[in-house]
Amino acid sequence: MKKIEHLGIAVNNLKEANELYTQLLGIAPYKEESVESEGVTTSFFMLGQTKIELLEGTNEDSPIRKFIAKRGPGIHHIAFAVEDISVEINRLQKEGFILLNETPKPGADGKVVAFLHPKSSGGVLVELCMDAEDYLKKLEEKSDD
Ligand code: ZN
Repeated sequence: MKKIEHLGIAVNNLKEANELYTQLLGIAPYKEESVESEGVTTSFFMLGQTKIELLEGTNEDSPIRKFIAKRGPGIHHIAFAVEDISVEINRLQKEGFILLNETPKPGADGKVVAFLHPKSSGGVLVELCMDAEDYLKKLEEKSDD
């Protein structure tokens, strides 16, 4: 894995959290984005090489709403940037980690992502992420073989 790409933080109210984090970090979010399939609205703050992602659940079935109902708002996941997400998924499966997504799926901020079950990663929800463009390029390369 290359670096911590972002920290995901579950919030009750994105608008209020944006204000709080703007005050805290001294910078404004550079984007807001809804991921319908995940039932979330997100905002991103850039901090050097790393980002902070705030996530608000948009419906009752949203994993973010469920997380907050159980554990309250706060740190939700750590996302690691990886060179090749398919290779990394295979490697981690061989190491015995449980993948919530065996095939990468579209995430926020132009990424494809896959999550590890926190049960297999010490109670921490881990997200693997890779630029969607790079992912598609690699898929094409592989299908050319
Ligand atoms: Zn994330």
